[in-house]
Amino acid sequence: MFEQFVAFVRELYRVQPEEFIPLHVPRFWGNEKKYVLDCIDSTFVSSVGEYVNRFERMMAEIAGTKYAVATVNGTNGLQVALRIAGVVPGDLVVTQPLTFIATCNAIRYQGADPLFVDVDESTLGLSAAKLESFFEEVTYLNNQGECIHQASGKRIAACVPMHTFGHPVEIDTIASICQKNQVPLIEDSAESLGSYYRNQHTGTFGLAGVFSFNGNKTVTCGGGGAIVTNDEVLAAKAKYLTTQAKVPHAWEYVHDEIGYNYRLPNINAALACAQLEQLPLFLSRKREVAESYGQYLTSLGQNFVREPEAAASNYWLNAILLRDREERESFLEYTNKSGVMTRPVWQLMHHLPMFKNCLREDVVVAEKLADRLVNIPSSVPEN
Ligand SMILES: *Cc1c(COP(=O)(O)O)cnc(C)c1O
Repeated sequence: MFEQFVAFVRELYRVQPEEFIPLHVPRFWGNEKKYVLDCIDSTFVSSVGEYVNRFERMMAEIAGTKYAVATVNGTNGLQVALRIAGVVPGDLVVTQPLTFIATCNAIRYQGADPLFVDVDESTLGLSAAKLESFFEEVTYLNNQGECIHQASGKRIAACVPMHTFGHPVEIDTIASICQKNQVPLIEDSAESLGSYYRNQHTGTFGLAGVFSFNGNKTVTCGGGGAIVTNDEVLAAKAKYLTTQAKVPHAWEYVHDEIGYNYRLPNINAALACAQLEQLPLFLSRKREVAESYGQYLTSLGQNFVREPEAAASNYWLNAILLRDREERESFLEYTNKSGVMTRPVWQLMHHLPMFKNCLREDVVVAEKLADRLVNIPSSVPEN
């Protein structure tokens, strides 16, 4: 099957024999050069300018939210969203063990600790059922209406599900569980631009959602992020915190809180605007790639990861679920040696030294998936 797979990927991407096939590369087919040059000509290349405002309007329109706030990257966007949600040092933030490190780093930037709840095999993301029993069994609401983790006495200040590889979690159920337990919901939608759950864009089910425009994401601007929300106060606070907590004044430098220099530069936003114009094209081509993989791998008796029920995935990174860790190792070995880039899923967060002592529930499904999940080439094909 390995040899057939490599041949199939070579045909899918129509490359020369021996040519290396990366996991995910950006495509600059639209107005990228035009907008970047225009931005340079305008001299507004930094944190003020027309493109960064336009990028925010485009993102709000795509997500279907009232507001979008541009940030330098997704990780910092998450940190700001957590801070506005009220996460402070000593708090706990519920998330999944199967995620990219940025989710947990952002939680730590706020001085809080992640608490891990298992994922579902059908979504690869936070399990709604397990989240519900977690709240029912080991937390309670105190007199101030705060959700407290019984054993540690710590406050659960937020819940951060992540839409793995672009596949939406059961976000409507998760949102109502969070609401019932009075825990703010921040979606790590870094990977899920263009992914919908029941026709609603991911990132819009809770207090805020955060997207990433890093080089390997579906749409890139070199580095960048966006916080989306329908909450006017939250949006204004996000803009203020990401611009050094500057209070508007005609000439004085008034700052009344510790803020950040986290606003996306206009020159990156120029690139982002050009890329976002091509999002529908990228999404439809990525869906075609996923369909080809799905058909072919199923015919080989392999387990291709498909979008969950009720969801439309952006198929950011395609994935295959191998039999066990041993088969995973030989697959990685063979494909990478043959010039077809494949990568195992991230190591589980609680296996890393910084998070190994964090609280966690039973995470058997994540453990099982981590042994078997491999990402395969997923760029938008050239033609
Ligand atoms: C890419 C990513 C981020 C953060 O993105 P940057 O823009 O690179 O900071 C956060 N969470 C997840 C799950 C990601 O994949």
